[in-house]
Amino acid sequence: MDGEGMLAGLGDRLSGVRGRLTPSAGMDKITWFRAGGPAELLFQPADEEDLAVFLAAMPDEVPVLVVGIGSNLLVRDGGVSGVVIRLSAKGFGTAEAIGETAIRAGAATPDKRLAATALEAGIGGFHFYHGIPGAVGGALRMNAGANGVETRERVRVVRALDRKGNVHILSNAEMGYAYRHSDAAPELIFTSAVFEDGRGPGASRNGSADPREDRRLDLQEPARNLRLEGSRQGRLPRSCRRRRADVGTALQLHDQHRRGHRA
Ligand SMILES: Cc1cc2nc3c(=O)[nH]c(=O)nc-3n(C[C@H](O)[C@H](O)[C@H](O)COP(=O)(O)OP(=O)(O)OC[C@H]3O[C@@H](n4cnc5c(N)ncnc54)[C@H](O)[C@@H]3O)c2cc1C
Repeated sequence: MDGEGMLAGLGDRLSGVRGRLTPSAGMDKITWFRAGGPAELLFQPADEEDLAVFLAAMPDEVPVLVVGIGSNLLVRDGGVSGVVIRLSAKGFGTAEAIGETAIRAGAATPDKRLAATALEAGIGGFHFYHGIPGAVGGALRMNAGANGVETRERVRVVRALDRKGNVHILSNAEMGYAYRHSDAAPELIFTSAVFEDGRGPGASRNGSADPREDRRLDLQEPARNLRLEGSRQGRLPRSCRRRRADVGTALQLHDQHRRGHRA
């Protein structure tokens, strides 16, 4: 896997791109579990237009993987072939209230900030995002949820780019949601979405903070280093196995994490 060679091979095709291109970029630097080998080429687009230019220039045969915060990804020690795209906070990380009950959020907005934006705007029904350690793009793809509420109950419309850089607007129904899954075409890269509590303005007002979600976050930080050790070690990336944490402790943290879901 030679990122420099790949970049050289792409030559002038990428001359119009403004974002950051990093060959052989360690996935352990950008994933929640801090584990995994290098991406052949990491691209961090400056904004949606830049992403479209990049995708249009990319040959079909180059595999493309978009990642958020990587809290639902475990990358192999062998790394990732092709291009990994990580949306920049500057170009895709803004969330704002639009109207009385709706919020528009870029795909790189952390779920926690989406919850905070709703709270500040007095919009209810978004506190469940506070304890999920991902970003909006991952939540849209995974139908993230907690405390009995899922993303599919809040999404109104999603903006996405296909492999050629064309814009698509998807309705909630077109996202094809099921439990922790969206049927939207795997090649689509979500760039932003509009969320709304479908219960209507009366139910959506008066957003309140939920102390259960703070408790979940307290449990997650230690779990970040240890939780994986409770799994089948033979299948984990070396960078995780090297931590050699006590398995009993890890399982206990995992159990605390699950109880955090129910609490
Ligand atoms: C400690 C812990 C607690 C968790 N708690 C919960 C929980 O309560 N509820 C829950 O639902 N999940 C939970 N998760 C799982 C995870 O946080 C969620 O699935 C989260 O939504 C993943 O978001 P991410 O940004 O980290 O996505 P990633 O892990 O980076 O990616 C996940 C998937 O989404 C795709 N993706 C990411 N961004 C985009 C984009 N812009 N466009 C298209 N596809 C994209 C990726 O290609 C990948 O297929 C937990 C995970 C951990 C480690």
